[in-house]
Amino acid sequence: MDYDVVIIGAGVAGLAAAANAADGKKSVLIVERHGSFGQETSSRSSEVIHAAIYYPKGSLKAELCVKGNHLLYELAKKHSIPFNNCGKLIVAVNEDEEKKLPGIMAKAEEIGAEGLRIVDRKEMARLEPKVSALSAIYCPTSGIIDSHSLMKYFLGKAKDGGADCLFGGEVSAIEKTNGGYELSVSETNGGVSKVSAVIVVNCAGLSSGDVAAMAGFDVDKLNYRISYRKGVYFRVLRKLDRMPQMLIYPVPPEDATVGVHTVPELSGGMRLGPRDEWSKTLDYSVDGKLLPVFHEAVKSFLPVLDADDIAPDMAGFQAKRYGPGEPSRDFVIREESGNGFPGFINLVGIESPGLTSSPAIGLMVKELIDGCLG
Ligand SMILES: Cc1cc2nc3c(=O)[nH]c(=O)nc-3n(C[C@H](O)[C@H](O)[C@H](O)COP(=O)(O)OP(=O)(O)OC[C@H]3O[C@@H](n4cnc5c(N)ncnc54)[C@H](O)[C@@H]3O)c2cc1C
Repeated sequence: MDYDVVIIGAGVAGLAAAANAADGKKSVLIVERHGSFGQETSSRSSEVIHAAIYYPKGSLKAELCVKGNHLLYELAKKHSIPFNNCGKLIVAVNEDEEKKLPGIMAKAEEIGAEGLRIVDRKEMARLEPKVSALSAIYCPTSGIIDSHSLMKYFLGKAKDGGADCLFGGEVSAIEKTNGGYELSVSETNGGVSKVSAVIVVNCAGLSSGDVAAMAGFDVDKLNYRISYRKGVYFRVLRKLDRMPQMLIYPVPPEDATVGVHTVPELSGGMRLGPRDEWSKTLDYSVDGKLLPVFHEAVKSFLPVLDADDIAPDMAGFQAKRYGPGEPSRDFVIREESGNGFPGFINLVGIESPGLTSSPAIGLMVKELIDGCLG
């Protein structure tokens, strides 16, 4: 099989790339090891449309999150993808936290977050009577989106543009050839097929470092090696008379996470999370012993919630380009001629805000592909 473009991975990034790449003019194949799309990280997130609050100025994370926020709302409205522009509050529960709000807000505005304002206790009580806080930053552009429907939309657009899909096929080897690359794809029936491509787009999420290594990249030198950060959620069981309708986030703790927050769901339920920790393995189980940790994390701003109102729910893993104790690193979205791999496009370390950024990631990948094909 010969293709102009082969995209490895049918998570939200690969599907967004395919939706933009498949324009009827070039042949595109999506190869996904599972029997369907979105079986890994993209279906295990908070589904938050982020406003771009905490990313470093000038980073791809900041730029693509701001663009992606606008594009996601446009796509959702135009294509009936369920979403809720519910807004978010970052709540300060004591005077020390309150002092941090103006600094958080100024940094976020600098990178492009829009419409932020500080709300006092009186307005807080009106906006979210179940939440207890001294004051908060109100982010009107935050929301939630049905990530499954979003991926389904991207896949449909890719197919309409002529893309083929090979589900149940794991890319197991990549060789450089004269005019591009030859991929070995191990299929669930035990067979191995060969696919040639002028352009390869590595959107393999948690395996993006392994796929890059498979092609011959020096993943340690380039900081493409992936570390797993496990995020765990607990479910709120009680039918609260009125659950917070907005996303409620604490002022970020000192551990460089955004902290355990409420995640209102489009179905009407609510989760708490994620609580993050580094992990060497991909074990998706949720330890019930974390219950007191979750209750402790939210009880100061959500006093209506008792410990027995929550129960273990689910976990997901972020693909990070850095490990414990290392500084945070940006997304890599790069055409790799500079590293000796013309036509090889790597997407490595697509952690949060990858879902929010996905439409902007798709556009960026299309530009890189068009740049290669001339
Ligand atoms: C707990 C948690 C909370 C999050 N919350 C948010 C949020 O609220 N908002 C937000 O914007 N982002 C959030 N994110 C981040 C977001 O979910 C990710 O950035 C995004 O889903 C990554 O998409 P992806 O396509 O890169 O990866 P994935 O969804 O993991 O897709 C990669 C695909 O590649 C396939 N693959 C891998 N190797 C091969 C191979 N060799 N051959 C064939 N196929 C292969 C895999 O099977 C997989 O389907 C969160 C993430 C987590 C874990």
